[in-house]
Amino acid sequence: MQPVKYQRATTVAEAVRLLQEGGEYARPLAGGTDVIVQARERRREIDYFVDIKHIPELMHVRHDANGVTIGAAVPCYLIYGDAEIVKTWPALADATHVIGGTAIQGRASLGGNLCNSSPAADSIPAMIALGAVAHIVGPKGERDVPVAEFCTSPGRNVLGVGEFVTAIRFAKPEPGSGAAWQRFIPRNEMDIAVVNAGVYLRLDRNTVRDARVAIGAVAPTPLVVPEAAQALVGKALSDQTIAAAGDAAKAAARPIDDMRGSVKQRRHLSKVLTERMIRRAAERARGQG
Ligand SMILES: Cc1cc2nc3c(=O)[nH]c(=O)nc-3n(C[C@H](O)[C@H](O)[C@H](O)COP(=O)(O)OP(=O)(O)OC[C@H]3O[C@@H](n4cnc5c(N)ncnc54)[C@H](O)[C@@H]3O)c2cc1C
Repeated sequence: MQPVKYQRATTVAEAVRLLQEGGEYARPLAGGTDVIVQARERRREIDYFVDIKHIPELMHVRHDANGVTIGAAVPCYLIYGDAEIVKTWPALADATHVIGGTAIQGRASLGGNLCNSSPAADSIPAMIALGAVAHIVGPKGERDVPVAEFCTSPGRNVLGVGEFVTAIRFAKPEPGSGAAWQRFIPRNEMDIAVVNAGVYLRLDRNTVRDARVAIGAVAPTPLVVPEAAQALVGKALSDQTIAAAGDAAKAAARPIDDMRGSVKQRRHLSKVLTERMIRRAAERARGQG
């Protein structure tokens, strides 16, 4: 473990100040399930942890008439344990329910999963499918960035020095819409996705009016696949259009070979999971899921 200073922030303003003072090698500490391992193994240069879990608004799930705002440090178990989230955003409940195991879910946060910016992060394709937006605060003020535009390369993202995510916002789904997320892993749990996929659909009878498709672990960042959405929008949902969207996801995937899976397997899984999630999202859009 490298020597690391620790400070606990209790307000957003204090965290901004501490992170700015800490400079390039200061890091927010949420659940610590990624960053403590990285510091221990010296995989990242870190000399300062700013603990953000004691800032009240970062630990709240706040429902309102138009959606839900999830504090960036809220642990997974409070997300999939929230009855309204399970009912209204089941794709998010599904993704947070499989991150690590029970012990990890007691600490691991949605903000940490996003800001760690792993290409295989499980919640990110679900958040992209749901059109989530990250609220960022920093020395120059506040800004909102769609999760779809947040990650820039493996382990990197749009955050500048002193900036951090305070919350992630999910708008209420439109009538006739549904979303789904799934991953493939060789074991039942405690593994990193070989591929994961999130899909959002809005249907008008059987015609697709809107769609978003995102796949993970197949490129340097979680990948938005507009070609897969275009294969669906304006068309009747059929085996042919679903297969065309699956083919588009397969074509967009740019995976690597590693110990978890080969390029060929990952491309194949991109198609399989995309098609499966289109069908599940459609079921949910019809109120069947
Ligand atoms: C045994 C084990 C199993 C795991 N299984 C999975 C899995 O199945 N799927 C999966 O996707 N991941 C998995 N992970 C990785 C990890 O648990 C998740 O990525 C988790 O969501 C990270 O959240 P955290 O709160 O612990 O983040 P931390 O470790 O506290 O932080 C992660 C990174 O994000 C930064 N950060 C955290 N919060 C913010 C914020 N609000 N603003 C700006 N930067 C921030 C930190 O500085 C750090 O760089 C696993 C990890 C372990 C140890």
